[in-house]
Amino acid sequence: MVRTRFAPSPTGFLHVGGARTALFSWAYARHHQGEFILRIEDTDVERSTPEAVQAILDGMRWLDLNWDEGPFYQMQRMERYRAVIAQLLTEGKAYHCYCSPEELEAMREAQRARGDKPRYDGRWRPAAGKTLPEIPADIKPVVRFCNPPDGEVEWNDLVKGTIRIANAELDDLIIARGDGTPTYNFCVVVDDLDMRITHVIRGDDHVNNTPRQINILRALGAELPVYGHVPMIHGADGQKLSKRHGAVSVTQYDDDGYLPEALNNYLARLGWGHGDDEVFSREQFVQWFDGSNLSSAPAQFNPEKLAWLNNHYIKQADNARLAALVQPRIEALGVQVAGADLQAVIALFKDRANTLNELAQSALLFYQWIEPDAGLLEQHFTAEIKPALAEFAEACAGIEWQRETIGAQLKHSLTQHNLKMPKLAMPLRLLVTGRLQTPSVDAVLELLGRDTVLTRLRRWL
Ligand code: GLU
Repeated sequence: MVRTRFAPSPTGFLHVGGARTALFSWAYARHHQGEFILRIEDTDVERSTPEAVQAILDGMRWLDLNWDEGPFYQMQRMERYRAVIAQLLTEGKAYHCYCSPEELEAMREAQRARGDKPRYDGRWRPAAGKTLPEIPADIKPVVRFCNPPDGEVEWNDLVKGTIRIANAELDDLIIARGDGTPTYNFCVVVDDLDMRITHVIRGDDHVNNTPRQINILRALGAELPVYGHVPMIHGADGQKLSKRHGAVSVTQYDDDGYLPEALNNYLARLGWGHGDDEVFSREQFVQWFDGSNLSSAPAQFNPEKLAWLNNHYIKQADNARLAALVQPRIEALGVQVAGADLQAVIALFKDRANTLNELAQSALLFYQWIEPDAGLLEQHFTAEIKPALAEFAEACAGIEWQRETIGAQLKHSLTQHNLKMPKLAMPLRLLVTGRLQTPSVDAVLELLGRDTVLTRLRRWL
């Protein structure tokens, strides 16, 4: 049974990189009919906040990355970590180290002076026939893990292929601090073991932790999970994605009017591919996502492509669903949705909207007073046009109020006054919608309703 996990630290929002890791872990479990576990790594008490936990849960729910177990909280598992530390101490696989910070600093200083890489020199590590220093009275010892002194750690990474690290490169990791609290790498190991994780998919900023974690897992007699380290996401400038590149938190995309299926589809393509396929459903992604085709090169975040995908999914989405998502966005601008049918408005505008917020902006003209720009009026609403528009308005009072009849009347007024379509359609749009660009003007007029159209026109005629 495949069991994957997403293990965010709640120190900020769920950002795009975390969401991509979550999506991959989720999809891998789903592909194999396995289980997906959510674990909150909240042991950094200084930086972890309940708001960040909430933001992570909200982001996961919004993306519909449903988990089968959890959320588990590391802070609630302290007893378990302590028990495993005690076990390792008893088995002689870990030991107390009484070095003071000053002593450690002096050790490093001496190593640097000799041109060596600074590392713990194992002075408190027990060995046959070795006499340990005298235990100082005033030091609360840390617990260090007995890392294998030689040989190599090797694993076959799902993304990066074979990775090999010499044990000589790894010193004896602190697994518990002086106050007894377990350290980060240790908690991860105990959790992955207890939660029977078979596949660890995470960002490649964790590659350096993996050999240490593998050694501890081995000391605990565990079977190793498969590891897959996905490369970071970069902005268009080649730098690691950060706030400077615009919205990076998942819930921000919700606020900005993206559909979750668009973001999921977009994230799936960051560091993974299936031929040239750009647009695919989640079901399709799950079917394809078997752990192959993961790229080891950093992925580049492209906001234009995300906007394009969002437009695609907006076009596909059901109008009733879109209306439910857009209405609160209109109301948030202080405008009541009353009069024109919002679903019909959305049907008319959704082809050109990249976001739900753009749709809300487009819809505003149906629900609030509009004030055409004076400069544009001067430019488009000329003396030559006025009689034609006046006639059109007059006729509008009496025709059947339907797109076809409105269009026919418009053509008729054009011919009467010997004008070309844009000559009349532009000022008409401007007076009635406040804009120069709208979908087909007859359709917009129909939806606005005769009364509104006439009120808006007669002001100027
Ligand atoms: N808590 C770690 C992070 O947020 C992830 C640890 C892991 O996936 O092993 O970066």
